[in-house]
Amino acid sequence: MKDKLMLLIRIQECDSQLMKLVAKKKILPENIDKLNQEFNAFREGIEKNTTKYDELKARHTENENKIKKINESIVKTKERMLEVKNNKEYQAMLKEIETAELSRGAVETEIISLLDELDKLAVSVKKDGEILKERQANYEQEKKNIEDDLNAVDTDSAQWEQKKIELQKDIPEEMLTQYEKIKKRNKGVGVTSVWKSVCSGCHMNIPPQMYNELQRSEELFSCPNCNRIIYFQDMGKSS
Ligand SMILES: [Zn+2]
Repeated sequence: MKDKLMLLIRIQECDSQLMKLVAKKKILPENIDKLNQEFNAFREGIEKNTTKYDELKARHTENENKIKKINESIVKTKERMLEVKNNKEYQAMLKEIETAELSRGAVETEIISLLDELDKLAVSVKKDGEILKERQANYEQEKKNIEDDLNAVDTDSAQWEQKKIELQKDIPEEMLTQYEKIKKRNKGVGVTSVWKSVCSGCHMNIPPQMYNELQRSEELFSCPNCNRIIYFQDMGKSS
């Protein structure tokens, strides 16, 4: 009987591993999703400086084009002035140039402050880039670990399944049926250890008489509380 019980214990080990693998197959993709979300949120946050930098850079380019246009119009007005005959027209053109120079001055002032802001932002952007790079490397590594884990699930499951089939060959049909039935009713655990009178399946005490017999007898016992097949295991020596 003890040999058969040993077999059941090993079958239980297979079933417990298989249950863990089923849980893994469900939880690991969820973990990957969570990891992706976290990283994307982090990236969005840290890219704010870069977005601002790009905006200012575009405005800077815009301003430089404005200056170019103003300069071109000034040159044209000056060319026209050479051909002007009457004084009134001449004065109007001088005024035109003066206005153009004024607005050029305003644009130039904005350019100076933009360049100043861009310089400051460039420092932050560089720092953020380094932080992001490091964070991205961690994220990718972590993701790869989970994916490797997930990829191993099917292979591992097949192995435990195979092992279980091998073990089942040497166990009487009715004992196996009993085990499967109890297992089904007890969250996947049909056989469990007892130590210091406590059933490790339901954490209840078994009667002292039964505990004594469990350690000596060849008989098969069930926990009076959870009904699982029980065996004595000295946790003081090894677990
Ligand atoms: Zn129990």
